[in-house]
Amino acid sequence: MFDRPFAVEIITPEQTVLKVQAVSISAPGVQGGFQVLYGHAPLLSSLGPGKVQVQEEGGVTHVYATGGGFLEVRDNHVIAMLDSAERVEDIDVERARAARDRAAERLRKHDAHVDAVRAEAALHRAINRLRIAGVS
Ligand code: ATP
Repeated sequence: MFDRPFAVEIITPEQTVLKVQAVSISAPGVQGGFQVLYGHAPLLSSLGPGKVQVQEEGGVTHVYATGGGFLEVRDNHVIAMLDSAERVEDIDVERARAARDRAAERLRKHDAHVDAVRAEAALHRAINRLRIAGVS
């Protein structure tokens, strides 16, 4: 039963990133990573920065770095609405390093004008991109 396909759609504000029949999707829930297979109960989950992995029927696997978003499961239809989603090969490593260093510097300064929550979120997104790209 668990290798039966179901519909998976990944969208960002800019585009539909993926729309396939899949046998599995795993996602970085804010309370921990989880996997959805055929027949999963209805679910609405917030996602944090991490890795979204979709295994298509037939074996093709798609891996994305995401900054977070929401994932809904209903009637064997999964929609992941993500702030951002980059394929591993599309991650701009130098950009992510620059974003990481900028955010770390902002946090280090303890400046009252710096929005620390925003800087921390940017730091996590950048570190996640680097981790998924396999660099640091
Ligand atoms: P930056 O400060 O470099 O813009 P960010 O974390 O603030 O990084 P986001 O707001 O998460 O960026 O994403 C904005 C857009 O830029 C999204 O479309 C995202 O996919 C893309 N993006 C951001 N960083 C990278 C990167 N290192 N490589 C590829 N695409 C990226």
